[in-house]
Amino acid sequence: MRSSLVLPIALIVLLSVVQFPSVYSQSPRLINEQGFGLNRSASLTIKIVFLGISPDELNSTYLKSNITVPPLKYQAILAGPLNTGVVFNFNYQLVFADNSTVNKFAQYLLSIQKPENTTSTPGSPSGLVNPYFTNSSTLSVAQNYFYNADKVESWLGSNMTLFGENPVSGYTLFVADLHSHRIPSLNYTEYQNYVTPCRPCTPHVVQAHYYNRTVTDPDLGLVMTRHFMTGWGGSGRLYYMDLSAGPSYWTNELPVQVASQLRGIDMSTYYGQLWRSKFIGSYITGAVNNLFAPDQLYPVNYAQNYNLQLFVIDNRTTAEKSQGPKLTATINETMIQENLASLVPFAGVAVHINYANVTDYPRLAAIMANATTRIIDPVSGRPIVDGDLVYNWFTTSALGHITNFINVTRTTSTIDVPAFLFAFKGNYTFGVPVKEDIGSPNIYGTFGGEALGDMVLIGLSQQADFTIGNNSTYSQSGKGAGFTHDAIHELGHAMGLNHPFIYDLTEDFTDTVMGYYAYSLNYSQFDRDSILRGVNDELLSFAIQALSTTQSTIFNSGDISTANQNIAQAESLYNTMDYAGAVQYSLAAAEAANAAQQLANSAISPAVVFGLVGVVIGAAIGILLGYLIFRRRKSAGIQYNRCPTCQKPLRWDPAQMRWYCDTCQKPV
Ligand SMILES: [Zn+2]
Ligand SMILES: [Zn+2]
Repeated sequence: MRSSLVLPIALIVLLSVVQFPSVYSQSPRLINEQGFGLNRSASLTIKIVFLGISPDELNSTYLKSNITVPPLKYQAILAGPLNTGVVFNFNYQLVFADNSTVNKFAQYLLSIQKPENTTSTPGSPSGLVNPYFTNSSTLSVAQNYFYNADKVESWLGSNMTLFGENPVSGYTLFVADLHSHRIPSLNYTEYQNYVTPCRPCTPHVVQAHYYNRTVTDPDLGLVMTRHFMTGWGGSGRLYYMDLSAGPSYWTNELPVQVASQLRGIDMSTYYGQLWRSKFIGSYITGAVNNLFAPDQLYPVNYAQNYNLQLFVIDNRTTAEKSQGPKLTATINETMIQENLASLVPFAGVAVHINYANVTDYPRLAAIMANATTRIIDPVSGRPIVDGDLVYNWFTTSALGHITNFINVTRTTSTIDVPAFLFAFKGNYTFGVPVKEDIGSPNIYGTFGGEALGDMVLIGLSQQADFTIGNNSTYSQSGKGAGFTHDAIHELGHAMGLNHPFIYDLTEDFTDTVMGYYAYSLNYSQFDRDSILRGVNDELLSFAIQALSTTQSTIFNSGDISTANQNIAQAESLYNTMDYAGAVQYSLAAAEAANAAQQLANSAISPAVVFGLVGVVIGAAIGILLGYLIFRRRKSAGIQYNRCPTCQKPLRWDPAQMRWYCDTCQKPV
C-alpha cells in the first residue's frame, strides 16, 4: 500500500486577506473577511434515518441533547487562529425506518453480497488478507462479506422517498444496525475467541461484513481494492454508516453488538438505551463535524478566476526516464481542471502544467541534490528528500525563488495557486526530519504531498509510485500511480478543504479525494457545499460589515439599498442550499456595500469620518466579542486589524501565528 499523504501543520499561514477591486475606485481595496467576531449563523437540519434500530432501543431525547450531539459549531480555519465568523446551528430530526423497509434494504444487500474468505496470511503475494484478522494462532478463517459501496449509496439515494426527502437545508445520515437482519456480522463470542490470550490455542472462524470499492489510477492504471469500509457517501447530500459492520483495521472501531457486550451493557435495560444513544451520538458527531459542517483548512476566498500553475519536474535518472513512464503520462490536466471547476462553478478555472527536467533550473537542481538525503524513514524504509529545504528555497518567506517560476497574485479577480510536483528517482519520498523520539518510527516523517499556505509540494517516485505495479504485492506489471489524485487532493487543501476524518476515522470512508483510504478522484458534495458556502459567507460577511460602518447619505443610499436587496436574495438561496446560485447576489451585495462605503467617505471630511468610525467601533466592540476589523481611510491597499485595548494597528506574528500588539506588547 502506498504511504499515506500527511499534511503537517503549515508554518506559514496565508492571511485571510483578499484584494477587492472596486467598480467605483481605481485603487484596489483590501477586505478582511472572516474576522474573529461572529458575523453569520447558518442552520442545518441533520436528518438521521435509523435502519434496524427501533425507537424503543434508544432514548431519543438523550440522543438529541447537547450532551450527546453538538447543538452548534463555530467553524474554524485550522491553519491559524481565525474562525470563519460562521456558527452552524444543528437541528436533529430522527426517522425510524419500518421493518419492511429495513428488510427490503437487507434483501438488496444480500443480492449484491460477495463472500471471500481470508486467513492470517495472503495465499499469494497479491492475495487478499483482512488486516484486522491476522493472528494465525486464533484465526482459522475469516469469512468476509462485501457489499459494493457505490451500489449501496445509490440504492439509498434512489429510495429516498421511503424515508422522506432530504431536508431543505441539511443532510441525511443513515445509521444502520443490521446484525439481526440476516447480514453476517461479527459476534461477541467470535471476537472473544479471536482476542483472548490462549495457550494452547484453538483457531476459530470469524465472520464480518464490509463495504468495498475498486479504483483505478487515472494516469498509470494501477488497480487498487478498498475492501474494509464501514460507511460510505458523499456523491449526494447523504452519508451511510453501518454500526454492525467491521471491525475495519483502518478505524479499529468495534461493531455495536460486540462493543456493548464487551462493556457488559444489557441493551434491554434503561441504561442500555442511554448507552446505545451515546454510542450512536458519537458517530453522529463525527459525521456532523467531518462532513456536514466541516472546518476550513485555509480561508476560502472568492475570485473570478482560479489559476492553477503546476510545475512537474523530472528528477529521475536517465535510465528511469527511458524506462518510462513519460512525465506527461503521469498527470491528467483535464481531470484536474474539471474537478477544481466543480468546486467553484461561478468562476473560471485554468490549469497550466509546465514540464521540465530539474537540470533546466540549475539552482533548483543544486538544492534538490542537497535535499536528497541518505536518511531512511523507519516506517516506510524509504530514503527522504528533505521537504523543508525545498520549501525554504521556494517560499517568499525564506529564499523566495518561487518568483523565478511565477508571480503569485491573490485578488478577487485572480487567485494563483502554485504547485511543484517532483518525480523522484528510486523510491525517494518527501520527508522532514523530526526530533520526536528518533528511536521509534513516526508516521509523520514522510508525505506524498503537502499544501502549505503559499504553495503545494508533491513528490512521487519511479519505484514506489510510477511503477509500483511491478511490486509483487500488486503484481500488475507496467502499472502505477501518477500525480493526478494527489494533485487534486493538495489543490483541494489550497482551496480551503480539510481532511474528512479529523473528528472520527469512519468518515475517511467518503467518496472524496480529500480522504486517504478511498482513493476517490472527485470532491464530495460535502466538499462542494463547504467551498460554496464559504464563498457566500465571505462575501456576505464583508457586505454586512461594510454596511454596518457606513453612514447613509444622499450619495450612497442607492448603493445601500442595492446591497440590502442582494443580501436578501443571496440569503434566500443560501437557505435552500442553492449556494452556487447565491454567489452572484453575494458578490453584488459586497460590491454595492463597498461602493456605499467609499461614497460615504468622499462626502465627509476625514476628521468627521474618524469621529464617526470611533463611535461605530465603540458600539461594535460589544457586539463583535471585543473585536472589529477597521478599514483605514485614504490608504487603499493596506489592511489594519486594530488592538481592542489601545486601537493601535496590530501586527501579524507568523511565529506565534497570532495577531500581536506592539503597543500593549501582547498577542490578541
Ligand atoms: Zn491532505
Ligand atoms: Zn494594544
